[in-house]
Amino acid sequence: MSNEANTDCIFCKIAAGDIPCHQVYSDDAVLAFLDIGPISAGHVLLIPKCHCDSIVDLPAEAAAAIGLVLPRLSRAVMEVTGAKGLNILQNNGACAGQVVMHAHFHLIPRVPDDGLGYRWNAGKYGEGEAEKIRDQISGALANS
Ligand code: AMP
Ligand code: ZN
Repeated sequence: MSNEANTDCIFCKIAAGDIPCHQVYSDDAVLAFLDIGPISAGHVLLIPKCHCDSIVDLPAEAAAAIGLVLPRLSRAVMEVTGAKGLNILQNNGACAGQVVMHAHFHLIPRVPDDGLGYRWNAGKYGEGEAEKIRDQISGALANS
């Protein structure tokens, strides 16, 4: 939860330069490097340099720094890989597939028929459910 460097965190160690990575971008607040287990060539991870477990803990300044570089980094990744599409994936919590508990954004270059697939089992709200959860989320935001 803390934004201090976490000595047990592999991405904090990468950000500190204690573990090597294939760096593609660095500034005061963020670092981007190749994922060690790429889903496709040019699969990049963008991380805040400060430690936070997930997006929920990401300080606004770090979020802004991520947002500032994401479009530029996306363009570079797509240009170099010849990708026609890009998935930006961001897992939070083990049940959502997060393995490394330091917030990060995956940039995954895609081309047509690359066989990587995409699972999106769209559901449907029942009577009144959408209005209820809309009001709950906007209420929570208003109180945050
Ligand atoms: P997630 O499942 O969203 O937590 O993704 C963690 C990602 O970190 C995986 O795609 C791993 O391949 C990647 N990863 C783990 N260790 C390293 C490392 N030392 N250098 C680069 N990528 C790593
Ligand atoms: Zn960390």
